[in-house]
Amino acid sequence: MALPHAAPVAAPRAIDGARLRADFPAFERPTRSGRPLAFLDSAASSLKPRSVIDTLADAYGHHYANVHRGIYELSEDATARYEGGRRRLTRFIGAGSWREVVFVRNATEAINLVAFSWGRSNLRPGDLLLSTQMEHHANLVPWQQLASETGATLEYVAITDDGRLDLDDLRARLARGPKLLAVGHVSNALGTINPVAEIASLAHAAGALVLLDAAQSVPHLPVDVAALGVDFAALSGHKMLGPSGIGALWARRELLDAMPPFLTGGSMISRVTLQGTEFNETPWKFEAGTPAIAEAAGLGAAVDYLTGLGMDAVRAHERELFAAAWDALGGIDGLRRLGPSDPDVHGGVISFDLEGIHPHDLATLLDAEGIAVRAGHHCAQPLMMRYDLAAATRASFYVYNDHDDVERLVAGIRAAQRRFNGH
Ligand code: PLP
Repeated sequence: MALPHAAPVAAPRAIDGARLRADFPAFERPTRSGRPLAFLDSAASSLKPRSVIDTLADAYGHHYANVHRGIYELSEDATARYEGGRRRLTRFIGAGSWREVVFVRNATEAINLVAFSWGRSNLRPGDLLLSTQMEHHANLVPWQQLASETGATLEYVAITDDGRLDLDDLRARLARGPKLLAVGHVSNALGTINPVAEIASLAHAAGALVLLDAAQSVPHLPVDVAALGVDFAALSGHKMLGPSGIGALWARRELLDAMPPFLTGGSMISRVTLQGTEFNETPWKFEAGTPAIAEAAGLGAAVDYLTGLGMDAVRAHERELFAAAWDALGGIDGLRRLGPSDPDVHGGVISFDLEGIHPHDLATLLDAEGIAVRAGHHCAQPLMMRYDLAAATRASFYVYNDHDDVERLVAGIRAAQRRFNGH
């Protein structure tokens, strides 16, 4: 009898950046340069596909009313779309329940929510909090504030010269029993992909909770919060093809249930008397006031778009562009690349310093060629200081980029060098 064949595992369908650009109206806009737009700043905020824009317009045009409270068709329709966005996001990030997904404005607000609600009720003077030297300010400043208000101590896990978390330093600091470790999944400035599952298991063994800043990972690689074993995760819709003004905090249900609310007022209550208030259940307990209704539907459309591409394919595409750009940039005299060289631990972000040309000048010259990059401290000033830099230039890739963008970036940098240094 013939043995049954195992079904072949389907390889992720390769992404064709040039073809996908047709889905993004931003590429139809003429640039000052007269050249097609090479958009290399998705780490700051991504462009939006037509399906997201159409969903937003449709939500505002045909399905808009306030959510949850209206006992009429239009409100029920808007509520279903708002909650539908939550359910899509729940599946997308591997959360066990939609009740664990709280809509907020952005990753910054998600982290502030945890610092305020969890932090102020769980930290005592002398408690230890850990963050790292590679964090975005959004995952630093709320902890500094929390430490100064509660008397807790905040320490930072060191990073290596090639931009990885120093796991020996992490172990040493965990041995002192911190209450929480706040760590980024993918560094917005270095591109480093941190080994989160390993970090979370070390932290839990030491009794610490783990907050994951997933702002740069959820848009770019498969993320399963349950498999990673973290306790909180923060993300922004606008970096993952979705609208601005909406993001999410994911947290384990028992943590959310035990946390006091962040903002108070309408929607987050179940009963109010003049003497006091009973709060609503999670996640609504954390969603005071009228939320970003159409934006939740738009975020759901962004999730659908990314799911259609497949997050394995998104990651493979960015890995390929990163590897090509890393090699090509390495051939430019006086250019210092930041972050790890290994494409397995480097996302689609490359920051670099170019001898003799300030990042702002470089960005201006590239813009004249239709190439949009980021120049500055990338909201990670302590990280820049670690590498003795005030600023760097950053190119970040997404689904609508391709090798042509890499070639234009490299040619643009060489042209800038000729102009500045006569190279
Ligand atoms: N964390 C990281 C790693 C980021 O890159 C960013 C934004 O660039 C944020 C947090 C903050 O995101 P938002 O400004 O959407 O709150």
